[in-house]
Amino acid sequence: MASKGRSERKRATPPHTAVINGPPEPHRGIFCNRTLNLRQIAAIGYDMDYTLIHYNVDQWERRAYHHIHQKLCDQGWSLDNLEFDSTSVMRGLIIDTELGNLVKANRFGYIKLARHGTHSIDFNMQRKLYGRTIVDLSESRWVFLNTLFSLSAACLYSQLVNLLDSNKLPKVLSYADLYGLLRDSLDATHMEGILKAEIVADPDRFVEVEAEVPLTLLDQKKAGKRLLLITNSEWPYTQAMMQYAFDPFLPGEMTWRDMFDVIIVSARKPDFLSAKNPFFEVVDETGLLKPVIGGPKPGGIFLGGNAAAVEEYLGVSGDRILYVGDHIFSDVHVSKDLLRWRTALVVRELEDEITATQAFSQRRDKLRRLMTEKEKLELAQSQAQLLLQRKRDKYGPAPGGSVNELERSIAQGRNRLKALDDEITPLARADRQVSNNRWGPLMRAGNDKSHMASQIERHADIYMSRVSNFMQYTPFAYFRSPRGSLPHDP
Ligand code: IMP
Ligand code: MG
Repeated sequence: MASKGRSERKRATPPHTAVINGPPEPHRGIFCNRTLNLRQIAAIGYDMDYTLIHYNVDQWERRAYHHIHQKLCDQGWSLDNLEFDSTSVMRGLIIDTELGNLVKANRFGYIKLARHGTHSIDFNMQRKLYGRTIVDLSESRWVFLNTLFSLSAACLYSQLVNLLDSNKLPKVLSYADLYGLLRDSLDATHMEGILKAEIVADPDRFVEVEAEVPLTLLDQKKAGKRLLLITNSEWPYTQAMMQYAFDPFLPGEMTWRDMFDVIIVSARKPDFLSAKNPFFEVVDETGLLKPVIGGPKPGGIFLGGNAAAVEEYLGVSGDRILYVGDHIFSDVHVSKDLLRWRTALVVRELEDEITATQAFSQRRDKLRRLMTEKEKLELAQSQAQLLLQRKRDKYGPAPGGSVNELERSIAQGRNRLKALDDEITPLARADRQVSNNRWGPLMRAGNDKSHMASQIERHADIYMSRVSNFMQYTPFAYFRSPRGSLPHDP
C-alpha cells in the first residue's frame, strides 16, 4: 500500500538541544530494575497511546469524562454539577468496588490511604475497614488504575458513590454494580469513535507533540533495531495521530510508516500477548481488510494478530525483544510474565514527581536528622524505663542513680520527644503530600514503596518518563540495576 497523506505542515527540525553530551537530568533519566544491554536487543516494539504519543491528560480525560457522563445521563440519571478534576485521582490508585472507595496501597498490598466517594476516611475508620485486608489484584473487587486513560472514570466513580449514598441513582444496587455501569460507558466512549473523531479534528489541543520522539526512533532504526508498532488503537486513529506527531519531524520524504518493520493496530493487548488471534492486513486508507495466512510480513499494516507470530516473524527469542508501553498490566506485566520480553514502562508523571522530590530535599534532610535523633532518644527512654523497673522491683544488675533521678531523666526525655514531634509532624505531612496533596507521590506509600512502584519493579526492566529519554543514552546503552538496599545495610 502506498505511503501517502504526508502532513502539509512540515516543521523545522528543532535545534539539537539534547545532543549526546553527558548524563541526562534526573527527571529525564532511565531507571533500571533489571540489567538491560540495548546492544543485545534486536527488535523494539512500541505502544502508541501515552507511549509514542503523549496527550494533554487534562484535555483528553475531560472529554472522555464528558462522554461517559453523557452516556449515563442518557440512561436516565440526573448528574448535574459534576465536573472532572484531574488532581482528585492518579494512576496507581485502586478502586475498591465492594466499598465504593479509592485506596492507595503499599508494596505488600496494605492500604495506607483511602477515600469513600470524594470524602476522606480518617485513620481509625480506615483501620476498621482495612486492618485485615490485603489488596490482591487478581480479585475482581479491586481495579488498579493502570494508565492515564483510567483517570476520567475513576474521578466520576468517586462522585457517583456520593450520589449512590444519597439514593440518587435509581436501580443501582451496589458499588460494584455502579462500577460495572461506569466501565461499560468508559469502554463505549473509547470504542464508539465520537471522542476519537474530536481528537483527530483538533490534535493541537490534545496531543503534546515532541520532535525528539521520531528522532529517537530513527537513531534506533539506523542502529539496526527492527521497530514495531503494536497498538490497541484503530487504524484511522493511529494513522491520524502518528502522521501528526511524526511526519513533520522526519527527514526528506520519510513518513512514520517507514519507521516500522511492521505496524499492528487494534491489537487487543493483553490478548495479543497470550492468545492466537488471526491477523488481517489493512490494504487501503479506509481500513479495508484482507485475511492473512500465517503471520505479518515486512512493511505491512496489520490488524489483530498475536505475539507468537510476531516472534516467529522476527526470528528471535523473547529476551531479544524490548516492548515499550505505558499500561502496567497489558504492556509490561503480561509481556514479561508470558513471553519474557524485555520491558520498558513509560511513566510521564515521574517528571513532576522527581522535580517535586528534589525541591523537598533540604526539608527531607532535616526530617531525616530529626527522625534519627528521635529514634536515639526513644531507645534511651526505653532503656531508662527498664532500669527504673529493675530498680523498683529490685532485680537484675543494679543501675546507678536513685529512682527519683531516673524518673526526672525520663520526664526530661519525654519533653524533648514532644518538642521533636512538634517539629517532625508538619515536615512529615508535607513529605507525604509531595507531588499530590491528596494522595502523595506515585511511587511511595508513606516510607515504603507504593503498590504501583512494586508493580513497576516486578514487571518493567526499565522505566522512564518518556520515550525520548532513550536518545541521550543512545541505542547502545547498557542499563545496570543498582545494588538494592536492605534494612540491615550499614
Ligand atoms: P495503546 O496504548 O496504543 O495500545 O492504545 C490504547 C487504546 O485503547 C486507545 O485507542 C484507547 O482509546 C483505548 N482504551 C484505553 N482505555 C480503554 C478502556 O478502558 N476501554 C476501551 N478502550 C480503551
Ligand atoms: Mg498505551
